[in-house]
Amino acid sequence: MLERIPVASVDVGLDEERYVLDALRSSWISSTGPYIDKMEQTLAQQTGAPSVIAVANGTVALHLALLGLGVHAGDEVLVPSLAYVAVANACHYVGAEPVFVDADASTWCLDPALCAKALTPRTRGIIAVHVYGHPADMDALRALADQHGLWIVEDAAEAFGARYRGRPTGALGDLGTYSFFGNKIVTCGEGGALTLRNPALEPHLRMLRNHGMDPAHRYHFPVTGYNYRITNVACALLCAQLDRADEILAQRRRLFAEYRQRLHTLPGIAFQPVAPWAEAAPWMFNVLVDAPAYGHTATELAALLEADDIETRPLFPPLHREPPFSAQWRARGGTLPVAERLGDTGLTLPTFNRLTVDNIQRVTERISAHRR
Ligand SMILES: *Cc1c(COP(=O)(O)O)cnc(C)c1O
Repeated sequence: MLERIPVASVDVGLDEERYVLDALRSSWISSTGPYIDKMEQTLAQQTGAPSVIAVANGTVALHLALLGLGVHAGDEVLVPSLAYVAVANACHYVGAEPVFVDADASTWCLDPALCAKALTPRTRGIIAVHVYGHPADMDALRALADQHGLWIVEDAAEAFGARYRGRPTGALGDLGTYSFFGNKIVTCGEGGALTLRNPALEPHLRMLRNHGMDPAHRYHFPVTGYNYRITNVACALLCAQLDRADEILAQRRRLFAEYRQRLHTLPGIAFQPVAPWAEAAPWMFNVLVDAPAYGHTATELAALLEADDIETRPLFPPLHREPPFSAQWRARGGTLPVAERLGDTGLTLPTFNRLTVDNIQRVTERISAHRR
């Protein structure tokens, strides 16, 4: 009997146990404590951000970023259609319209030339997502943003450890966001962070995170805030993951190399390209299935692998086709052929730290065997 191979699985070990136990025994289990401070400092060092704010998850990090930038009803925000739904939802939270821009086939991220075409007098900024760990072309986006007085939020949720032209990602935008959800490269179950290039925004964002309470004046609430805090226990888990981030990244890079080496000659199977200036983070390993050349669509291949006890996931569905956004998108009357092609033909293969070479051999052998 072969074991089922899941698409993702967590890797928490003795370090994580030790840190979490330490947090529990210290009785700092709520939303202050040394692991929260340590997490913020570590992420600041790794990204080069002058300040970092730990928050409950990646979605609220995006919400706080848009609040901090003063985005409001009637504003337009350029976002990739090929992205996780939280990116577009966050725009709706502040009453703004997410304006979907197509992907660049050579990176799967926002196409800067198409961003330029999508500008209107209402455009306020860009959420640049590093899609599946590949950095967006930040210099091109920055040039566009500077020319038109726009801000950039860098969503690095999938890109922990990626580099753009040699620079660490995560603090290349005006604000950056991270998620530490269970399937991300480093995780604490649920968690997130905001990186700030401009520390002047920090007090206001920290106040919004904590019910709008004035830190110098307990139970005084100058603004409507939120409870977007994270616990010291969650940050203890994350600190253990951050301590061994290099090892986690190296292991996942080995898995990516193993997949590529075993699949690169198979007709009808292609990978996410890596731009010459990019060092992509090894988040999830994806293939594109060219049905005429491979003999099955991505959906058919997923069903065949499922019967082999191998779990896969479709790529993100292009967001402009999802119900909360589709009507507004149709009214604009555009087409997003690259995001649609990637969304319709992509498949995420099992990618997690404890995936073995034997597992990868089984997955890739089945993919080869199903070709016709
Ligand atoms: C995971 C993810 C999010 C959401 O993060 P949560 O922690 O699940 O709220 C946002 N943006 C991107 C690009 C993501 O991959």
